[in-house]
Amino acid sequence: MLQVQNLQVTYPTPQGKAYAVNGINLEVAAGETVGIVGESGCGKSSLARAVMRLLEPSAGRVVIGGVDVTSLPKRKLRPLRQRIQMVFQDPAASLDPRFTVGQLIGEPLTLTEKHRATRNKRVLALMDDVGLPVALFDRFPHQLSGGQRQRVAIARAIAPRPDIIVLDEPVSALDVSLQAQVLNLLVDLQQQYRMAYLFVSHDIGVVQHMADRIAVMYLGRIVEIAPYADIMESPQHPYTQALLQAIPVMDPRRSRIADKQILTGDVPSPLSIPSGCAFHTRCRFATDRCRRSVPPLHSVGSDSLVACHLSAPSTESPFN
Ligand code: SF4
Repeated sequence: MLQVQNLQVTYPTPQGKAYAVNGINLEVAAGETVGIVGESGCGKSSLARAVMRLLEPSAGRVVIGGVDVTSLPKRKLRPLRQRIQMVFQDPAASLDPRFTVGQLIGEPLTLTEKHRATRNKRVLALMDDVGLPVALFDRFPHQLSGGQRQRVAIARAIAPRPDIIVLDEPVSALDVSLQAQVLNLLVDLQQQYRMAYLFVSHDIGVVQHMADRIAVMYLGRIVEIAPYADIMESPQHPYTQALLQAIPVMDPRRSRIADKQILTGDVPSPLSIPSGCAFHTRCRFATDRCRRSVPPLHSVGSDSLVACHLSAPSTESPFN
């Protein structure tokens, strides 16, 4: 459904070129949910925006349903927008305050449904699908709660029946109690509409219950990608282990991590990415080799990839 090939997003700064996304390869199959996790500043939102062509990649390709969207002129992107939609973190900023709920949800349908009565019928069905009372049809975004606004944004996204939705921190602006409701709604809608999700979150705990696979990003690169169960039961990369330890809930499966990996310090600036393994400044296993050479993303098991010298399939000791 979605292929991201060697994608790079850079931006110029007075100090030089900064790499927000630095050579990402990723595939999302039909109906699959892939979670992209990492701390703020890891490049995951830049990746999401580049997939949507809201940011222009500096290299690489994004292929949606077999069509290379990176080489398409913007005017030819519109039909493809039906196939891929996005839900943003802040629904207040993504919804036009001058439109009512009915108009906001109906707007993506104007291309395919010209008759207003038929369109409104479909809008009411979409409102029902996302759990919005019909009484809100004529309300404006400022008259809604945060949870209701995000439901409007989700209804807009599913209206054209896309193949895939990019969800960029879709619940992080909501209260914890509302987060669970919206996550459950997304799970139900995925089954009903048979869509794939690319789910971006700084919190691995948020994506853990719905992702088929999880990709962990650090400073513009994927450092581990694996099926959900493998990530939860035997995370290979020290950064993944640290993210899992930060989830504030008890999960007996995580007891398999022998020692706690506590994350200290901040993500370094993308303007001065550390040499070798970019995580070495925060990794308690770092060696000279880690400081010298970039660990390639290599297979561990049948479906997992990890970029760490500790799990490299090399006869050389990782501590040389
Ligand atoms: Fe840590 Fe070295 Fe692995 Fe990087 S390559 S995560 S520094 S052990």
